[in-house]
Amino acid sequence: MRPACAQTHWQTRGGRYFMIGEGTHSTNQRRHTYVRDNVQVGFFTDPTVCIGCKACEVACKEWNQVPDDGFIWSGNSYDNTGHLGASTWRHVMFVEQDRQKGGQIVGGHSLGDSNVNLPVEAPAKAEDPFRWIFVSDVCKHCEQAGCLEACPTGAIVRTEIGSVLVQNDVCNGCGYCVVSCPFGVINRRPEPLPDAGGAFKCTFCYDRQKSGLTPACAKVCPTESIVFGRLDDLRARARQRVQQLQQHGYSDAQLYDPTETSVRGIHAFFLILGESEAYGLPPKPQIPTIHLKASWTAAFAAAIGALIVTLCAFAFL
Ligand code: SF4
Ligand code: SF4
Ligand code: SF4
Repeated sequence: MRPACAQTHWQTRGGRYFMIGEGTHSTNQRRHTYVRDNVQVGFFTDPTVCIGCKACEVACKEWNQVPDDGFIWSGNSYDNTGHLGASTWRHVMFVEQDRQKGGQIVGGHSLGDSNVNLPVEAPAKAEDPFRWIFVSDVCKHCEQAGCLEACPTGAIVRTEIGSVLVQNDVCNGCGYCVVSCPFGVINRRPEPLPDAGGAFKCTFCYDRQKSGLTPACAKVCPTESIVFGRLDDLRARARQRVQQLQQHGYSDAQLYDPTETSVRGIHAFFLILGESEAYGLPPKPQIPTIHLKASWTAAFAAAIGALIVTLCAFAFL
């Protein structure tokens, strides 16, 4: 059945709905009027089709003219970017885990092919599972954004399409947003980089979107691991994909979209395999302002206590 939220760009194959592989008709490629029409948009990232090419990272840097972040060879992994930051608005994580991926055949030489000549010193280890998952991480564009709530200058705003935007010409570099982001996304740019001191993160390519273009990272993704589009369409697509993977042996496939916490859902959500912590995604992210009520109550109680003690001291003088 056609989903109620489906738009005309959805096509059916064998009774199921797909957006992927539609070439120039894909939501990653088509021009749109989402900003003019106030349509809530988002990203759905599916690591099971990511090939770790990092085209998204490069396209983001090129379009937004983000300075390089050191080209440091860590020696620990092919993931030399390390983490999101003021000069890394897209980061392709390379997650290595000692477990099986779906119906993957595990072990270094465990294919059972008698033509494979195994070296004597490296015997087959079918009991030695390993999986490598690539996930393109980005600002989550939270429904209730800690960074936006903490900003004292109004530099961080919500756009018509539901994204969270930092206006760098208004930012005073106080850094309140940095400590208020539950995902550790936004950061201040260090010296001697251009615009040092200011806070930076993904803009959701708001400049491109105002002109009807899709975000640069989604545009270049060759496998459509990053899918850009209407939020309701993407959520329907994500649910369908999780179901499909589970039916094909990926029993630990799940959607990461914390709608039940004070963040109230994210506009860049992820399909993940296994626990969210392995991807640096907190299981229950909260915005710091939810602790305000308890803090003010404690401060009020302390003030009343101090007043009573002072009055008692005067009374017994
Ligand atoms: S992930 Fe962090 S920086 Fe991005 S919108 Fe949410 S609170 Fe702000
Ligand atoms: S939406 Fe634009 S700014 Fe954000 S990660 Fe993608 S390319 Fe970079
Ligand atoms: S998300 Fe797409 S562009 Fe980015 S690394 Fe994966 S396959 Fe490449």
